[in-house]
Amino acid sequence: MATRGTAFLMYHELGIPGRATCQSEPGYVRYVIPASDFRDQMEWLAKEGWRGRNVTQAMESFGDKSVCITFDDGCETDLISAAPVLKELGFVATSYITVEFLGKPGYMSQTQVRELHALGFEIGCHSLTHPYLTDVDDNRLHEETAGAKDMLEQIAGIRVDHFSCPGGRWDARVMRAVKQANFRTMATSQTGVNLSTTDPFALTRVTMLKGTNSDDVLHYCQGKGLLRTQLKEKARDAAKLVLGNSIYDSLRSLIVRGRLR
Ligand SMILES: [Zn+2]
Repeated sequence: MATRGTAFLMYHELGIPGRATCQSEPGYVRYVIPASDFRDQMEWLAKEGWRGRNVTQAMESFGDKSVCITFDDGCETDLISAAPVLKELGFVATSYITVEFLGKPGYMSQTQVRELHALGFEIGCHSLTHPYLTDVDDNRLHEETAGAKDMLEQIAGIRVDHFSCPGGRWDARVMRAVKQANFRTMATSQTGVNLSTTDPFALTRVTMLKGTNSDDVLHYCQGKGLLRTQLKEKARDAAKLVLGNSIYDSLRSLIVRGRLR
């Protein structure tokens, strides 16, 4: 069943047995999907007649059994693990790169970014240093958006049109900076399915977490099973607003570690 809208799936690093992940804290690891699960999910979607698109393609037509595949941070597994699976199925994706992560252990190198692009994948920008953009001053915000775009365009030798917000944090000021930097879209981590009427600077995505199974993914593509997450997010956003990002994060890391419930 196709929907009127298109789900934008948000992946991060993929887990490969015996390979250390870029970071090890529980708050990070919950986003690491085993590479074998990723393969199952993509094969299942292909079998059900869905097609994996990048952001540019997804913005051209909504619905029609398209699913937009995105990766945040620029982990090396985008290239060595996800790309071969997607290629095999005739899918493409957008990889949002954090410029200053390039070359660090577990992340792509500059050469690998060019390789990924040469394989037919779209390169997007995920800021310069991955701060919460809502917490930085105007100069830094400019560097993290326009500055990051310039650097990434030089590194990759292409135009970079799409931006995704680190930690999913954004507000009207962030949105303005991303627009002024001449990006064409901004993806958030707000849950939902995008329609042709959705603001291109407030694109929703569906967070892929460890333990997400192929049926869940299929349901998300059909726009099902998202309401519970949306309600949880409303509560979380209210908590962030009251507590501020840093207090919220310390509390959350205690909860994730099981010290508070
Ligand atoms: Zn990120």
